[in-house]
Amino acid sequence: MLNRMLLPDTVGTGGDSHTRFPLGISFPAGSGLVAFAAATGVMPLDMPESVLVRFKGEMQPGITLRDLVHAIPYYAIQQGLLTVEKAGKINAFSGRILEIEGLNNLTVEQAFELSDASAERSAAGCTIKLSPESIAEYLQSNIVMLKWMISEGYGDRRTIERRIAGMEAWLANPELMEADADAEYAEVIEIDLADVKEPILCAPNDPDDARLLSDVAGDKVDEVFIGSCMTNIGHFRAAGKLLDKFGGSLSTRMWVAPPTKMDRDQLTEEGYYGIYGRAGVRIETPGCSLCMGNQARVADKATVLSTSTRNFPNRLGTGANVYLSSAELAAVGAILGRIPSVEEYQEYAKQINATAADTYRYLNFHLMGQYTKKAEEVIIQQAV
Ligand code: SF4
Repeated sequence: MLNRMLLPDTVGTGGDSHTRFPLGISFPAGSGLVAFAAATGVMPLDMPESVLVRFKGEMQPGITLRDLVHAIPYYAIQQGLLTVEKAGKINAFSGRILEIEGLNNLTVEQAFELSDASAERSAAGCTIKLSPESIAEYLQSNIVMLKWMISEGYGDRRTIERRIAGMEAWLANPELMEADADAEYAEVIEIDLADVKEPILCAPNDPDDARLLSDVAGDKVDEVFIGSCMTNIGHFRAAGKLLDKFGGSLSTRMWVAPPTKMDRDQLTEEGYYGIYGRAGVRIETPGCSLCMGNQARVADKATVLSTSTRNFPNRLGTGANVYLSSAELAAVGAILGRIPSVEEYQEYAKQINATAADTYRYLNFHLMGQYTKKAEEVIIQQAV
């Protein structure tokens, strides 16, 4: 929700390592420092160097954004900038800023998937270069959502009104900071999307252990989790459509937990909760769910496909072997009871691709009648 209050080029902080911004930059910190920043409006910081990840070319069929999240450690390993072994560990991202370029047309919701995962890289912060159009769409949507919040009695009204004014000011004069053409980076990783031809997962139990699908295909799958702050509504539609086509009851135990109540309401309205129910999916309350590790847990020693942020040992379940993957791949694994081959996965990916425009619609509140109607009735009260 806080992401929907962001202004472009804002510098912020927060107490959770996943307080990562899709716009501007966030430097997560300890609670003392966060409290200091909140009280004084400044935060002492030695500006770290940056590692540039530059994507180029076109995304290949069946490849999802989550695969690009995992492509970053995968390519870093190939370049010797990251090692998986704990002894003598190399991690070029650690304590640095991860700057991502070359995916300018992502929606801001999609961009969050990349910035959120900078926590797994141990990066101090993350920036993503986005087009002004993507940002404008997000702000237009958020202005409506914030007005709707006012109409529903959320506080603090004055703060929300100030945010709306800030967004409107940016929309009237849409300027964005950019890296200098001659900027220097500690490291540069170039990823040609033409070379990313198959999904990339992170193998048990380390988010740095990025591997191609063909290297892990065939491993059995006991449980599947689709949820966490790495997911958005499009992932739940994609999984729901695959389950609907499958039509049966899953032999695996599948968990679904949309990140927000608004996602849940929308998915319910569109009939996806009915599909999950018919497939025997265990539907969790919106929020962190299994990812938190102290709410629900997978069975001891289960092999799991998960869309959550990190697969540290014992986080999702005691002795569990957790692969991190896209929601799309996780849903295929839930249906098959094993990690699919690349060919099997691509067959399912074709099904997803056939209705991609409907599946990957994001919560654009300025296009949703139930929100615009209430937003239109809100009269801004404060001189901001
Ligand atoms: S979903 Fe997981 S990583 Fe994200 S905020 Fe919740 S517990 Fe943290």
